[in-house]
Amino acid sequence: MIKSKKDGLLIVLSGPSGAGKGTICNELLKENNNIWKSVSMTTRLPREGEVDGIDYFYVTEDEFKKRIDDDEFLEYANVYKGLYYGTPKEEVFKRLDNGTDVILEIDIEGAKNVRELMPAAICIFIMPPSMQELKKRLEGRGTETKDKVLERFKKAYQEVNEVTRYNYVIVNDEVSNALKKISAIIEAEKCRVDRIEDVEVGNVEEVIHEELIGLE
Ligand code: 5GP
Repeated sequence: MIKSKKDGLLIVLSGPSGAGKGTICNELLKENNNIWKSVSMTTRLPREGEVDGIDYFYVTEDEFKKRIDDDEFLEYANVYKGLYYGTPKEEVFKRLDNGTDVILEIDIEGAKNVRELMPAAICIFIMPPSMQELKKRLEGRGTETKDKVLERFKKAYQEVNEVTRYNYVIVNDEVSNALKKISAIIEAEKCRVDRIEDVEVGNVEEVIHEELIGLE
């Protein structure tokens, strides 16, 4: 009766490093096989255990800049001093066209660029329960040097001030709660009337006629 748009939702997930975006995202992907997470490209070196093509596509700065010139990115940003991160656009558009929901886990600048290009994107901000807790999580990860942890923590302060530019905010006090909320947001977005392409109610005479025959 209701014919909705076929294309998938574009979901942008941002929040400070250590807020738990990655964990929430992975749990969401486990629960829902119609969601695909875009694999970003970065000039950062792989951390222990990270796999090229799964966590990121790892490239040199020259290679990254060539791809900027070739217009291969939906968005990109110089997230941390000297480190570029970007979303390769081809696969994102292909998946959306096929009806798959696509998640971009990107920083606030990238999110701003995506919002300008694609105003229908659903922008969700993942907030840590407190800045103290964030600092504890960043230090506890042990994946960055002390300087890098400090840089990420300082950037977190700029990032949380951007929260009002997003459509939704989720405080990640507990992953299971955050997951419930993000799933509810996606469900609700699917029900938006601006996703309706057509309403087919059929012919009223025919419906009444069939009912009358049924009564005979
Ligand atoms: P990490 O180095 O910890 O993997 O990621 C650092 C930050 O880069 C995270 O806040 C993440 O959201 C952001 N990021 C990852 N991929 C992209 C991307 O493709 N574009 C932008 N703009 N930011 C990204």
